[in-house]
Amino acid sequence: MKIKQSEFVISAVGPSQYPEDGLPEISLAGRSNVGKSSLINKMLLRKNLARTSQQPGKTQTLNYYKINGELGELYFVDFPGYGYAKVSKSEREAWGKMIERYLRDRDPLKLVLQLVDVRHPPSADDKKMYEWLSHYEIPMAVVATKADKVSRSQWPKHVKMIRQTLGMPGHEPLVLFSSETGQGRDELWSIIMKAAGL
Ligand code: GDP
Repeated sequence: MKIKQSEFVISAVGPSQYPEDGLPEISLAGRSNVGKSSLINKMLLRKNLARTSQQPGKTQTLNYYKINGELGELYFVDFPGYGYAKVSKSEREAWGKMIERYLRDRDPLKLVLQLVDVRHPPSADDKKMYEWLSHYEIPMAVVATKADKVSRSQWPKHVKMIRQTLGMPGHEPLVLFSSETGQGRDELWSIIMKAAGL
């Protein structure tokens, strides 16, 4: 999609701060360092809109980005990265409550992109997130990040490992993505546009 404008809107600490205009929301989940900020920047062709390498585990907010494309408007909603060892148990629980409530109650949510690093088997936290998405029947796509770090001939092996570890059926989309090369960007945009009804 051709993007006319993109802007950071709010770091929302709870539902009272979520936008009320009803625009479709595409959310992004993944462990810290998986490449979420880099992906957002690449999708929006912005150098530094989503800050890369934010202090891991520190953000307990949903970061909203508003995107004005030639076909319509939508939000990217960046979930706090999970799986960071130094986060306390109570912070972890607060994170879980916020995300689960959002997944359960948020009407404008149209799609969750679950990011996993193409090089490694999904973690226990990744599996839990995947199970939540299945449980709440939320449309989702898995994005395998950092595809440039694995040689092309090895991709099928890695894709198989990710699908098997998550228990992901074949019809659910898995996109190989690289913020370095732009690989997967067009494919991901078409999945997003379809889910957003644009
Ligand atoms: P976040 O914590 O999930 O937001 O992760 P970042 O976007 O900050 O990325 C973490 C690190 O991985 C940074 O050093 C990025 O430069 C690097 N990185 C992210 N995406 C890619 C990618 O597609 N290819 C390569 N080679 N490195 C990446």
